[in-house]
Amino acid sequence: MGNARRAAAARDRAQDIEKSQVLLARRDTREKLGVPIDGLAARVVELLNDIQRTLLERAVAFRDEHTQQADTYDAFKQMLEGRPGFVLAPWCGSAACEAQIKTDTQATIRNIPMNPPKAEGSCVRCDSPAEFVVRFEIVLVGRPFQGRP
Ligand SMILES: [Zn+2]
Repeated sequence: MGNARRAAAARDRAQDIEKSQVLLARRDTREKLGVPIDGLAARVVELLNDIQRTLLERAVAFRDEHTQQADTYDAFKQMLEGRPGFVLAPWCGSAACEAQIKTDTQATIRNIPMNPPKAEGSCVRCDSPAEFVVRFEIVLVGRPFQGRP
């Protein structure tokens, strides 16, 4: 930081003290807010709740944008070939089937989504009836898909 910027920052802090306020900087939006010391605790709680909500919305949108749905094994394999992402697919619930999917595609089961679509038809890999719709994820270079915004 240069001398001019340092002096300006010091003037800003002095003004904050005169106004009995503090400067809050949000890391998620880069927004800076002058907040009165009076009521600061309540305002911080409010901002933290807002940050939490914003981060969750971003994460859900990111996940949804990178999730595809597969009904056939060929489509499933194609969706996961060489690129990270999530695929929802019906699964019979068999550990052997899960292991074969991992061998064939490197994809592992990430979770059973909350409020999943009803499992219909047969498992994406075998002919057994589907018990669940699960979210598969391919893990490349030993790391989960973390291309967060
Ligand atoms: Zn199966």
